[in-house]
Amino acid sequence: MNKGMTMRTAIIGGGIAGLAAAFELEKARAAGAAVEYTLFESRDRLGGSLASEIVNGAVLERGPDSFLTEKPAAAELCRELGLGADLVPSNDAARKTYILVKNRLVALPDGLMFLVPTKLIPTALTRLFSLKTKVRMGLELLHPPRPSQQDESVAALVERHFGTEAVDRLADPLLSGIYGGDAAELSARTVLPRLVEMESEYGSLTRGMLAAHSKMRARAKEEAKNNGLPTGRGQGSGNGSGKGQPQARSIFTSLRGGMQQFVDALVARLNPDWIRLSTPVNALRKSDGGWTVEAGGGTESYDAVIVASPAWAASTLLSGVDAALSEDLGAIPYSSSITINLVYDEAKLGELPDGFGFLVPASEGRSMLACTFVHRKFLARTLPGKAVLRAFLGGMKNEALLTEPDDVLVATVRRELNEILGITADPEYQQVSRWRRAMAQYAVGHQERTKRIAAHVAALPGLRLVGNAYDGIGIPDCIRLGRLAAKELVASQPAAAGESAGQRVG
Ligand SMILES: Cc1cc2nc3c(=O)[nH]c(=O)nc-3n(C[C@H](O)[C@H](O)[C@H](O)COP(=O)(O)OP(=O)(O)OC[C@H]3O[C@@H](n4cnc5c(N)ncnc54)[C@H](O)[C@@H]3O)c2cc1C
Repeated sequence: MNKGMTMRTAIIGGGIAGLAAAFELEKARAAGAAVEYTLFESRDRLGGSLASEIVNGAVLERGPDSFLTEKPAAAELCRELGLGADLVPSNDAARKTYILVKNRLVALPDGLMFLVPTKLIPTALTRLFSLKTKVRMGLELLHPPRPSQQDESVAALVERHFGTEAVDRLADPLLSGIYGGDAAELSARTVLPRLVEMESEYGSLTRGMLAAHSKMRARAKEEAKNNGLPTGRGQGSGNGSGKGQPQARSIFTSLRGGMQQFVDALVARLNPDWIRLSTPVNALRKSDGGWTVEAGGGTESYDAVIVASPAWAASTLLSGVDAALSEDLGAIPYSSSITINLVYDEAKLGELPDGFGFLVPASEGRSMLACTFVHRKFLARTLPGKAVLRAFLGGMKNEALLTEPDDVLVATVRRELNEILGITADPEYQQVSRWRRAMAQYAVGHQERTKRIAAHVAALPGLRLVGNAYDGIGIPDCIRLGRLAAKELVASQPAAAGESAGQRVG
């Protein structure tokens, strides 16, 4: 691209990462930068995994229901979009999560932090672990420091410290709840970097976690003192009730109108003429000083390309550009999942246990991976008198479920809810959503792979890869990467605005 010309960027994929990139380019344009973009999306709607509807007075999330509050990129973007007043915190006063053990719900013990038990009495009393595991958890305090030589699976790390039962009843269900993944495959360095560091420094993860916690509390106390605030306890960890902690920040944040509200607000800021729905990009080629994009039966030239599709799609698109890059992208595993929302008349449902819901270890032999009591997790997103249960199925170990028809899936979930919670009531409404190969899995060796990918991308000017495959699976990280890619491209543009350098040849 020559000095003084408009930089034309193709964004491939209209999930949250691609939308965030488009928003950033739009912002740069409004500020006077000479940029244009085309957003290509293969589906007939934008948002990717973010999708929700309001049915029977309840916000029903088909994909993600919230984002982690401690990662600010998502809430910041919501505020920029004017949605600040619609951000809603999770109802942490009712936060309690159960694990299904031999078909009984056992609450996660208080004091559990990142899979690490830190409180003696709740750990000693819990029915979650056998006596043998509890003894092992006590002896874990004696582990000597162990510098990390190479990456290993989360299961290997957790088993070394707390034994196989902790993998089965804790690591595996918690991680399959977040990643749809398998603790035996996921990379400890990528998924639990803090634990890997603690093992190197302290040996015992429990001692490491306690030290980190007391440092954090001292810092919070200091900050509170400096700000003239009362110095009470900080946010409860693990499964604590959170009661009596008025300054605590909620763990999760969502939007009053659901994730669709986020997508709609973002899309409203974009130029509709530059969005191409139902237009998959089929291939990318490097051309003189830019990129050729093959889509919709034609080809078009761009100065830059932000690939915001899943890595497996990026692999296909880039196969003719850089075979090694394409191979690494194609080797990133993905899991698929199914969510089923069931809306009930609360009066007919019967008593549910307190809390947000439960997780199901693979050893229970169930189809469900988890179930959220949606009306408890976010208040005011469900009309009083209604209850919403959201079941998750699928994951790395049960991909075959995706081919089952909706009625079979709903019947399976209802049978399991009956066996676990005794629910016999008919739901007023049911909704099934399938997410094929939507969640990247950070497998052992992920960091080496992403380093190789970054090195190849750096050698291809104007190319950026964003999305959940690289540096964070959640919505905030996808937004962060999308915006950063757009900012970097704008910053790399020679100064001064002018006529478009783009040439449409298709
Ligand atoms: C069921 C579920 C629950 C989740 N829960 C949470 C949660 O509670 N909190 C959280 O933070 N995260 C959650 N996640 C993860 C988070 O939603 C995703 O990681 C994130 O939305 C991914 O965004 P993305 O833009 O990278 O990819 P996607 O949303 O997958 O978007 C990629 C887009 O690219 C398009 N595309 C693909 N190929 C092409 C092509 N060749 N040409 C044009 N377009 C193409 C696709 O159609 C898609 O729209 C959840 C995910 C799922 C599936």
